[in-house]
Amino acid sequence: MASMVIAAALLVSGCTSSGDGAIQRKGPASTTSSLPDSDQDQDSSDGEGGSTSSPTDGPLDGLGSPTSVGDPVTPGAGAEGIDVLSYDLDLNVADPQGPISATVLITVKAEQELAALNLDLHGLTVESATIDDLPVDVSRDGDELSLKPKSPIPQDTEFVAAISYSGDPNPVEDPSAPGVIGWLDRESGSFVAAEPIGTKAFLPSNDHPSDKALFSFTITAPENLTAIANGVLAEKLTENGMTSWRYTQSDPMATYLIQIAVGDYDLIEATGPRGMQIRHAVVRNLSEEQRTLLDQTAAQIEFFETLFGPYPLDTYGLLVADSSPEFALETQTLTLMPASWLRGNTDEFSRVAAHELAHQWYGDSITPSSWSDIWLNESFATYAEWLWADHAGIQPLEDSIEEGKQVAEEGRGIYGPIDDPRPTEIFSINVYYGGGYVLHALRLEIGDEQFFELLRRWAADNAGDNVSTEDFEALAAEITGSDLTDFFETWLRSDSLPALPNK
Ligand SMILES: [Zn+2]
Repeated sequence: MASMVIAAALLVSGCTSSGDGAIQRKGPASTTSSLPDSDQDQDSSDGEGGSTSSPTDGPLDGLGSPTSVGDPVTPGAGAEGIDVLSYDLDLNVADPQGPISATVLITVKAEQELAALNLDLHGLTVESATIDDLPVDVSRDGDELSLKPKSPIPQDTEFVAAISYSGDPNPVEDPSAPGVIGWLDRESGSFVAAEPIGTKAFLPSNDHPSDKALFSFTITAPENLTAIANGVLAEKLTENGMTSWRYTQSDPMATYLIQIAVGDYDLIEATGPRGMQIRHAVVRNLSEEQRTLLDQTAAQIEFFETLFGPYPLDTYGLLVADSSPEFALETQTLTLMPASWLRGNTDEFSRVAAHELAHQWYGDSITPSSWSDIWLNESFATYAEWLWADHAGIQPLEDSIEEGKQVAEEGRGIYGPIDDPRPTEIFSINVYYGGGYVLHALRLEIGDEQFFELLRRWAADNAGDNVSTEDFEALAAEITGSDLTDFFETWLRSDSLPALPNK
């Protein structure tokens, strides 16, 4: 989330929106303290499982196969022992405010012998399921879905699970998120905001960022509506009043970065640097003046390309939706942005747009393996936002650094180390502003030339892959030829904050 720059970023950082749509920033003390101090959503979401049913509604029958990757931030999410290679989702949305029906083909590689394929699914009804066209036993236990074939799946085997399901998606609650997440619908249409664990509300999936996969989406909706998803439009076909839109996301993507929107949206096409395709989708009642705010997207891409290297994906744009609670989210190639923020403070919109764009390099193209490493998303996007704000004349960099310093001084005692925040505080302001300040300290420590080489190599060397803080520290040491162990130990993990390097 990034911002969730206001979802995360903003939420955290404290950006919320006032009644008139203006974005306000609040101090760290008011950030996530109102969130319930409980464990993840798993328990609470069970209570919403009234609509959950399945051919076999009993205890999970996939014992012997992992039902979690063991991430302490999202216990229960994902599953070890499997590598999803691709999801091919065929989704019918007759009414964006109504139920969905879908069939998904999931191509999986077994990394160990599997007694069952265990996935995450919240609510919805599983109508049928097969593995390699053979019937399986289907069982549900809370948000775990288990497909058990007649005989175990050998290690290193690739197989295809086909699951047909339907129902009204139930939102997911998560203590780290600013509101409910998952499949959300408003009067103007539906959209997705899933970080960190909301994808299971509409897609059976290995719902953890450590398992990136390729995606294709075929969305069938009434012909008077627009459907859009991550990636590029590959095919559009209208028959009998219904239009099928097929999108392909050819770069690996984490499940939390899915975007699927259906509703009263206008598509706007533009051209970015090097002729790259830009396409936005906006609520139809967005004024012409507000639409012109989107023109800065190309300039933002161009600016970041000079700093971070070539834009790493095949297209980009904003989905301007009636999202509430108001937050932005860096859904891959198609950032979710609240329409109200184009009607408010345009400087704040510009900052948030830059933040979410920067995530396409840091968070989307390269993705942390664990939620504890979320600073690799948010600190980087925040520092990029500061650089854009300085470049665009919105706020001098030194003022952003000072804000970051204040947060960093107060935040580490409240939220935990930047690279290992407390589980309910992964989107705390310290991960955003405090981490941005850490990156500025690193820039001063190693100098501009090596700092920006590090940022470019970090994006280029790891494109499409998962990363960790250890990886970043190792690359920094390689590029500088210096032992930076003490620097990272102090700046990321110590209880007290040193002075900025005086170099
Ligand atoms: Zn962010």
